Order: sequence, then structure tokens, then C-alpha cells
Amino acid sequence: MIVTYSKNAFFPLTRACRNECKYCNFRRGDYTLMSFELVKNLAEMAKRYNCKEALLTFGERPEVYLEFRRNLKELGYDNFIDYVCSVCKICIDFGLIPHTNAGVLYYDEMKKLKPLNGSMGLMLEQAVELECHENSPGKNPRVRIKTIERAGKLKIPFTTGLLLGIGESKYDRFYSLEVLAEINENYGHIQEVIIQPCVVRGVKVVDVKEVKEVVLAAKKFFRHVQIPPNLFTFEEVLYLIKAGANDLGGISPITPDYVNPYNSWPSIDTLKSFLNRNGVVLRERLPIYDEFIIRKMYGELTKQLVIGDKRDA
Ligand code: SF4
Repeated sequence: MIVTYSKNAFFPLTRACRNECKYCNFRRGDYTLMSFELVKNLAEMAKRYNCKEALLTFGERPEVYLEFRRNLKELGYDNFIDYVCSVCKICIDFGLIPHTNAGVLYYDEMKKLKPLNGSMGLMLEQAVELECHENSPGKNPRVRIKTIERAGKLKIPFTTGLLLGIGESKYDRFYSLEVLAEINENYGHIQEVIIQPCVVRGVKVVDVKEVKEVVLAAKKFFRHVQIPPNLFTFEEVLYLIKAGANDLGGISPITPDYVNPYNSWPSIDTLKSFLNRNGVVLRERLPIYDEFIIRKMYGELTKQLVIGDKRDA
């Protein structure tokens, strides 16, 4: 049995976010952005550790804040997405393939980012309105579904998924999977679905048996089902692999999981040996899956890195 992961470095470009999700471990009242010097230093270190992916994750629409816009201007930008594009270019120059999670985006914003990304992502979380999102306009399911569809129209290989334990019912979970399956039927661009338990200050609010139920259901629709290995014990990871999870997502040897800061990444070698002893081969992949490379869906400016890596393999 083969299970994949992507070796990455996490670039938290800004902690400012227009949303206020009740379970959030990431958002801060801090309106700064990563300087290009910091981005270059991290990219250089990522290369030294043989990371292939630059995971760009940050708060949604931070430009709603005046202080953030001032800081952006100081870096020479009027538009946040242009700044993100510049960060992507730096990462590509250092030999990393960007995977941007920018929250909800308009079509033209995604079009700008597409050539600079191997793939992109946005968690659907749940396709229903929930109380924990009452102050989060970007978590309106209709707005998120539109963003995922826009990625489909632009043929962007896309990672999405469900967040479990945020007030949804069991029925909502299966309904949300059906919504994703329907979008994928229309566009064929969803490369993987993450099944992620909500973790608040290090405490998981969903039992692993419930996660298994959703993994089993997701496998009916999607070839690649991902679970985050830092949110489970090794035994639980194996249990979910046996249920059909076949990807462990990004694992970083150098940066923490800023979204779940209380849960550190396992050592890749230790995880690999544990899985090996249990009949599972852990294999590295790129942030874009092979099927989507064959379909040439990578961003044009990442082509050399994507194709070059396949040639080296
Ligand atoms: S969108 Fe993400 S970063 Fe923003 S408040 Fe919600 S969970 Fe936190």
C-alpha cells in the first residue's frame, strides 16, 4: 500500500484576516506582511532541506484593514494579490513550487495566480451555514463554492476538504462531500480532499471513528483522500489509511503548522519507519498530483520545476 506526502515549507504571509471563525488558531491583530528578505531566507532554507513545495497560507482579504494597506504600500504594492504573485516568483526562483491558499478569490485574482502555482487550495469546510462562522463572510458556503468552481473554470489543480466538528451534523458532512463531488464532476480539477478534524488549542473535537466514517464516504467520490498526520497518533493514522486515506498532505521539516500550532509535525523518517513496519510505503509527491501533470494543468511558470522533478525521479 502506498501513501503520499509533500515535503513543504509554510509561508504565513500575514496573520491579518477579515474573518473571525470561532475555532481559529491562526488569526492575529497583527497587520504586518512577510518581508521579501524573510521570504528569501525561508525559501533558501527550504531548498537546503529538499522541500519541493512552498505552502503560502494567510488570512483572507487582509486588505480590508487600513493598517495592512499601509504596510502593503510600504512594500510598494497597492494590491495584495500582486504582492502574493511576487512571493510566488521568489519561491519559483529558489526552486520551490508554490501552492497558494488565499481564501475566497475573484476569477481575475485566480487567473493572476494560476501561472505561478503548481496547484492551489481552499477548504470548503462545510457546505452549510454554521454559527461558528457568523462573523466570517468568507465562510459563506456559496462564496466558497464559487471560488472552487472558478478554479475549475481556470483548470487549476485544486485541494479542498472538510473541517469536522465545527457544529455540523453527520448529514451535513455527507452533503458537503456530495457538493464537492458534483463540482468535480463538472470541472474535474479537485486533486484531493482533506478530511480534517477541528482542533482547538491542541484538543481534537471529533473522535477518530467519526473521521473514519467521512474518509470512507470521501473515497466513494475521490481518488486522493488526505488526513493531516500531526492531528492524529501514528496508530490513528494507520487506522485511517486502512479506511482509505492515501495522502498525508504537506509535512514540513523546517516550519510549524501555523494553522494548528499546538500539533507539531511528525519526523518524516520516524513516520516512514512506523508505516513500513505496518506494510505501508510512504512516498513523496509534488504539490500537484501526477494525473494533473499529465494533463498539463500546472502553472506555466512552474513547468520547469514540475517536469524537471519528474525527470530527476
Ligand atoms: S478564515 Fe482562517 S485565518 Fe481567518 S479567522 Fe477563519 S480560520 Fe482564522
